[in-house]
This record gives sequence, C-alpha cells and structure tokens, in this order.
Amino acid sequence: MDNTTEHIKTLIIGSGPAGYTAAIYAARADMKPVVYTGMEPGGQLTTTTEVDNFPGYPEGVDGPSMMVQLQQQAERFGTEVRIGLATAVQFAAEPGGLHKVVIDGAKQLTANTVIIATGASAKYLGIPSEQRLRGGGVSACAVCDGFFYKGQEVAIVGGGDTAAEEASYLANICSKVTMLVRKDQMRASKAMQHRVESIENIAIRYNTEVDEVLGEQVVEGLRMVNNQTGEKEEIAITGLFIAIGHKPNTDIFKGQLEMDEVGYIQTKGKSTKTNLPGVFACGDAQDKEYRQAVTAAGTGCMAALDAERYMATLEV
Ligand code: NDP
Repeated sequence: MDNTTEHIKTLIIGSGPAGYTAAIYAARADMKPVVYTGMEPGGQLTTTTEVDNFPGYPEGVDGPSMMVQLQQQAERFGTEVRIGLATAVQFAAEPGGLHKVVIDGAKQLTANTVIIATGASAKYLGIPSEQRLRGGGVSACAVCDGFFYKGQEVAIVGGGDTAAEEASYLANICSKVTMLVRKDQMRASKAMQHRVESIENIAIRYNTEVDEVLGEQVVEGLRMVNNQTGEKEEIAITGLFIAIGHKPNTDIFKGQLEMDEVGYIQTKGKSTKTNLPGVFACGDAQDKEYRQAVTAAGTGCMAALDAERYMATLEV
C-alpha cells in the first residue's frame, strides 16, 4: 500500500469519448485534469473497427485510431493520462470536501472534483466461438457495424427493446435478419414487438439460443438450438449481433451515488450533476438511452463545464 496521498484538482475516471472530451474542456479551463484510463484504455470504441458516424471524419476512422487522436488532443492542452483502474472511492458529502479515490488497490488520491466516465460494457453470451469471432463478424452494436453487412444475411440475439430496435435497423440494411429469442416471448415493449413482427425480412425464432458461431476467421454461419426440443439447425450468416443488454461500469460507486436498478448513475435534470457535490457523471455510465460516441462526447463536455462552475464556487 502506497501511504502517500496525491492531490489532484480534476480527476477524470475513464478514457472513452466522454472522458477525453471532458479532459479537453477541463484542460483548456486550467483545471489540471488527470485521466485514469481504466481497464480498457480508449473504451468500447477500441473494440470497433470502422467508425462512420462520428462527425468530422468523412472517410470514417477506425475506433482505436480515433481514441488515440482524442487522447492526443486532451494531452495537447496539458491533460495527464495515466494507466490505472479506480478500485475504491469515498466521496465527500459536503460542498468543498475532498473526494478520496484509490487506484489499483494501492495509490491514494484526493480530488476537488471527480468526473465519472467509466462507460458501460456490452454483455456477451460468453461461448468460445462467439469470443473468438468478436471483430470478425460478431458485434454488440448494430448502429456501429450494421452497415458492413449491407445486402447480407445476419442474426441478432436478444428479445428486449435493444434487440427489437436493432433488428429493425438491420432489416433496412441487410437482406434477412434472424432474431433469436430464448423464451417463448419477447421482453420488448408491445409496440416494438409488433414492429419487428411486421417487418417481412425479420424471422423471429422463439425458444432459440446460439449453440455455436461457425467460421474460422470470420462468421460464416450459426448453429441454433431450440431449448424446448433440443433440435439444432444451421443457417448461413455473415454477421451476428449480440443485443442482450449492457452493464454500466459503476459497481465501485454503489451505495454513494444514486443509480437506477441496473446501475446507471442518475444525473440531475439536463446536467451531469450526481447527488453528491463536485461529482459529475457522463457518457454511457449515466446514459442507457443513446449510447453513441458522439453523445458520450457531448455529455463529457457538459461534465467539464459543470465541474468548472462547481470549482469556481470553491476558489481552489
Ligand atoms: P433487456 O435487459 O431489456 O433485454 C435483454 C434481452 O436479452 C432479454 O430478451 C433477455 O432474455 C435476453 N438475454 C439476456 N441474456 C441472454 C442470454 N445469455 N442469451 C440469450 N438471450 C439473453 O436489455 P435491452 O438492452 O434490450 O434494454 C435495456 C433497457 O433499455 C430496457 O429498460 C429497455 O426498455 C431500454 N431500451 C429502450 C429503448 C426504447 O425505448 N426505444 C431502446 C433500447 C432499450 P429474457 O427476456 O429471457 O431475460
């Protein structure tokens, strides 16, 4: 255990588009931001290939390159970026109180203000063939990757609103979408269910799960299993989308910050303020609705502006 405590003016936890955008704004406002990257420096976009929907890249950009550029932009204004994972926090309850954060179970920090940008992680099925083909046709984001399967046959796993919404999105692009729902009914709202049922090129398979994703380097097919009869069936597809939910990376804040039942941090009104003074939340850690790089960047900017206003009241 490192017994020395380092003081940081503006601590940003997380290094996705929200964290780096907060850092750009905070650094330019002379708030001396330090970013701790977390387990996945660069965040979820480092697991995507081409990003075609972030404004300003007419030819698209690959996710990892975009995150390097965002980091460089934040560093250009004096942000310090450090590899490390926040493992414990003790936030102050009173305005002006110092927030305590432990990094990697050892390093002790205090901070005047903390911006949480820890993101969310898509849930995967966890079977070996799915894990092996992530980036080779297995994706957890239809809006990010659907375009690569234009005119092709794909499948999507899940029966919630996300799966239903993404299935109808994919149906506009792909020739056929097979939707695997593990129960005999969907969890999605009735309106969304009716929508997918009415789309001609969506085939819904109830009581059906993935047995194995087929293909060596890229997805070539899917073996499905009916969990009632045990019957297996193979179909040819080039893309498999997993839409079984996301989990916000907010476990270490439980008990201190107000969250919804899934763990998304609750922010006040249109701001990024949490229930504690000087603690702000942005990006996918607090947004289950939009979850896009550009909206995460937008809320990262808001968090830095909210933090700047908070700091102005402290005169530190
Ligand atoms: P949900 O948790 O609502 O749904 C997850 C779905 O995935 C369920 O059908 C679940 O099945 C299935 N599932 C979970 N694990 C597995 C597994 N291992 N194998 C196969 N299937 C699995 O997540 P969503 O992301 O769909 O939605 C999250 C929240 O966001 C919800 O509150 C939703 O309403 C909301 N949302 C709203 C939208 C809108 O209003 N436009 C759009 C998108 C999301 P089972 O039912 O059997 O548990």
